[in-house]
Amino acid sequence: MRWEAQRLDLEESSTLPGMPSIRGLLRSVQVPEFPGLTFHEVRSRSALNRVPDDSAMPFPFTINTFRGCSHSCVYCFSRKTHEWLEFDSGKDFDSQIVVKTNVVEVLRRELARPSWGREHVALGTNTDPYQRAEGRYRLMPGVIGALAESGTPFSILTKGTLLRRDIPALVEAAQQVPLGLGVSMAIWDDALHAALEPGVPTPRARLDLVRALAEAGLPCGVFLAPVLPGLTDDEASLDAALGAIAAAGATGVTVIPLHLRPGAREWFMTWLRSAHPELVPRYERLYARRAYVPAEYRTWLARRVAPLLARHGLDRQSGGAARGADDAIATGVPGDEEVGFPAGSLPTGGLPGVRPKERRAAATRPAVPAEPGEQLSLL
Ligand code: SF4
Repeated sequence: MRWEAQRLDLEESSTLPGMPSIRGLLRSVQVPEFPGLTFHEVRSRSALNRVPDDSAMPFPFTINTFRGCSHSCVYCFSRKTHEWLEFDSGKDFDSQIVVKTNVVEVLRRELARPSWGREHVALGTNTDPYQRAEGRYRLMPGVIGALAESGTPFSILTKGTLLRRDIPALVEAAQQVPLGLGVSMAIWDDALHAALEPGVPTPRARLDLVRALAEAGLPCGVFLAPVLPGLTDDEASLDAALGAIAAAGATGVTVIPLHLRPGAREWFMTWLRSAHPELVPRYERLYARRAYVPAEYRTWLARRVAPLLARHGLDRQSGGAARGADDAIATGVPGDEEVGFPAGSLPTGGLPGVRPKERRAAATRPAVPAEPGEQLSLL
């Protein structure tokens, strides 16, 4: 494993029998409360990852508190990034979770540097910061506090309802800095959800999260993603989803079709072959040339969705974003650079937060570039 990139010191005390003893790894643990998961606790050299200047992402920095994700979405296109740690992109991605135990301490140091430009920092761009491990390690309260106290705008994208725990901290942070919150959900059928997102809270629980954020006065943009061709793109399903999202009080919504990047494609197609063999030829055609659906499908989906957005009062912005939006929504969603962010998911809201790309270069000095495989994948 390429643990050297994580090391701060030379502690080596892998406590799990059979686990390799690796420099930089503090210990590997399995605990009864989290059956099937192994946590590899590391001390990280840095917290802030710099987004490459040529990226379409509208934020210049990211933080990943974990690598690997127990939410275990079959279609997750962060899977491939686990191979940088010499784990596999399947079961290991779901169950071998790297935890940056010192991330808050390192972040506070980085934010205190005089050169820190207080630019938008995004969480949830590679793996989910509110996956199950967060219940044990409680890293996010410290991250939120450090960002807010330093005057740094930030955004969080998640499928994890554990975010509810931190609503009071987020309300407090919102008094100090611009922030954006995003929740992704798309699969409403229980059986499909269990098969494709086995570790993710149910869509209903995520709707409750959106509602709780709205009631707390916080913004929340919903990514209706991934829409699965032939499985969840029928009018009735989209209508029900958009109606529920609107009723929950989302500040915006963006509809995004499935992408199949290498690393996710193999796992998803294996599932499709066994669960829906009749759809295999269609998917092979749709994703024959690239990870994204062809323009024709994208256009077809946009046309189908447009009247539904209008019906539910979510059509005040072009491109599928949303009521309450007050300025241009940046494009460059991780994994799909062609679509925009739903209103509420970026720290804008009429306040500073998303900086024009051409101004980034001068402001990207303080943090080190991301380690290979660290970022820019998720939805
Ligand atoms: S899609 Fe998001 S929530 Fe699902 S496994 Fe990947 S990182 Fe985790």
